[in-house]
Amino acid sequence: MPVEAVPVAIVSIGDELLIGQTINTNAAWLGEQVDLDSCRVIKVISIGDKLPDILAALEDAGGKAGIVIVSGGLGPTADDITKPAICQFFDTFMSLHEATLTRVESLFARRGMSLTDRNRAQAMVPHSAQILPNEKGTAPGLWLQREGVHYFFLPGVPFEMQSLYLNEIRPLLNKMYPGKRSFHTHYLVHGVGESMLADRLRGFEASLPPNISLAYLPSPGLVRLRLSMRQFSNAKDELGFEDFALKLKALCAEDLVGEGTDNLEQVVGVLLREAGMSVAVAESCTGGMVSQLLTSVAGASDYFLGSVVAYHNSAKIKLLGVDPAVIATHGAVSREVAGQMAEGIRELYGSDYGLASTGIAGPGGGSAEKPVGTVFLAFASAKGLQVTQFRFGDERWRNIRCSAQMLLDMLRRDLMRFK
Ligand code: ATP
Repeated sequence: MPVEAVPVAIVSIGDELLIGQTINTNAAWLGEQVDLDSCRVIKVISIGDKLPDILAALEDAGGKAGIVIVSGGLGPTADDITKPAICQFFDTFMSLHEATLTRVESLFARRGMSLTDRNRAQAMVPHSAQILPNEKGTAPGLWLQREGVHYFFLPGVPFEMQSLYLNEIRPLLNKMYPGKRSFHTHYLVHGVGESMLADRLRGFEASLPPNISLAYLPSPGLVRLRLSMRQFSNAKDELGFEDFALKLKALCAEDLVGEGTDNLEQVVGVLLREAGMSVAVAESCTGGMVSQLLTSVAGASDYFLGSVVAYHNSAKIKLLGVDPAVIATHGAVSREVAGQMAEGIRELYGSDYGLASTGIAGPGGGSAEKPVGTVFLAFASAKGLQVTQFRFGDERWRNIRCSAQMLLDMLRRDLMRFK
């Protein structure tokens, strides 16, 4: 028999979440983790620090869920009213939890700080709650049950909430609901838009059984595909999933950058290292983003030699050897200048590859012939020079990001021949 995923509701408490002062990263993080634990988030509720609202949210969340995870408002300040709400909802009262008091006292002693009444109040907890020790802070997590629904209360501070989930709640869930209920794999695709990709994968999607689904998670220039299987019971099902995963990879073909949590810069780094090749970058419109992406990967000095941010024409001429007459004739944003920049940086650093970007990121500077978003990306290697013109869009940040990613992807595609 297939195992049904356990329905989970997430409740986030805090006025700051409602006015956009704090982004509700806790709900996003919990959603992802809960899914890994073979549960299924059916509802996310955000509410302010008001007792009646908290009571109503707990009632609502417990209506269809087997598990409710609440974060926020457990602290010692006046607006932290989750504990009084718990007492009312679970018909219990506050009492001192000695072990928590000892832990808070030793935490403060270790930090050389004196304990205030407010800090001591962290050890006052709803009497019928089971305590989940908080290794990262003072407010413990709480676990209560009502009408067969498990309620977990966690502090709002993200790293405290995360540590409590991983160290306390995850082991409990695995014990309460053994067996796998869902499975996901992710594939990163570059160079084909979401709708074109959806056209390519239409037949594949139509062939999926009801318990396997495909989701598109697009970001500028990239699409992350998530293939999920829910409600399965045996190894044969898992093998079936593997078959679909292989088919999907084959359909993505050379547009497939990587799997799981891979990103473009990591994949390019691995390929460069494996091929024993090096790269240098001349950046105009990308303003350093290609270099930033490359160096965000540890150990990038194995293959990234350096870059020049040649924003002004004088830098292109002086540092990269671009011919001023070429700039005068074709303009700084041109096929010719991009090519000379790529060859110039390759020569300057003596690298195997030389990459270059020049473009009109916007919002100003466009013309009828070269509108905002026009970008020339160049790629020089022992094989010769390749310059490609792109038109990404009207937004500056998008043009910069898409140009940087495209350059890395041009490099990735060339490096694939060494695999
Ligand atoms: P503590 O006693 O450790 O302060 P608490 O339960 O009282 O915990 P809150 O006062 O609600 O926590 O929030 C503490 C911090 O965590 C605040 O900076 C808040 O903005 C942040 N925070 C709270 N809820 C969330 C959330 N859902 N997503 C991201 N950050 C959050």
